[in-house]
Amino acid sequence: MDIYDKLTLLYSAKEISLRIAEMGKELSKNFDNKEPIFIGVLNGSFIFLADLIRTVSIDCNIEFIQLKSYEGMVSSGKVEVIKMISSNLNNRHVVIVEDIIETGNTLKFLYDKITQSFPKSITTVTLLKKNMKNQLNFDIDLIGFEIPQDFVVGYGLDYNQKYRNLDGIYHLSNNNNA
Ligand code: 5GP
Ligand code: MG
Repeated sequence: MDIYDKLTLLYSAKEISLRIAEMGKELSKNFDNKEPIFIGVLNGSFIFLADLIRTVSIDCNIEFIQLKSYEGMVSSGKVEVIKMISSNLNNRHVVIVEDIIETGNTLKFLYDKITQSFPKSITTVTLLKKNMKNQLNFDIDLIGFEIPQDFVVGYGLDYNQKYRNLDGIYHLSNNNNA
């Protein structure tokens, strides 16, 4: 059976790019003359951040942090830093750019970590948010799409490091008969 038999399209490349253009416009308006620093969370958000910043029309900086919290299709619950950022965040406007929020564990960990650097502000942006209760004691500022709890891949998101290259977002079924 072809692997693509297990994938069901949720958002096409076109739908994603239209939504991202709106998000970039909003960020450009909110951070005009503030030179925010966008921090992409690797690996999942590399495509989203790359597309998002090209819709942003103001001066901004880019950084990446690499975290690990997932094994296969389940969140492991603990978050590790694999690669730290090098910029000084003190007194800066920080925009965290995530691919997807599920339990909120990863974002909460990162938010707390960045808070320790005394930034001027922290804004949280995610392309996808699963429609479920999360651990966050703050609101996510900008959400691309709210989705059901199913596992998704594509547009940077993987299943065991595969499918990141798909230009749309797909639901991945773990049932061979699905
Ligand atoms: P959380 O910590 O919010 O539970 O999960 C966040 C991280 O888990 C995301 O940054 C992403 O790496 C991974 N994740 C959560 N749900 C999914 C999903 O449906 N598909 C993929 N590929 N990764 C997910
Ligand atoms: Mg992520």
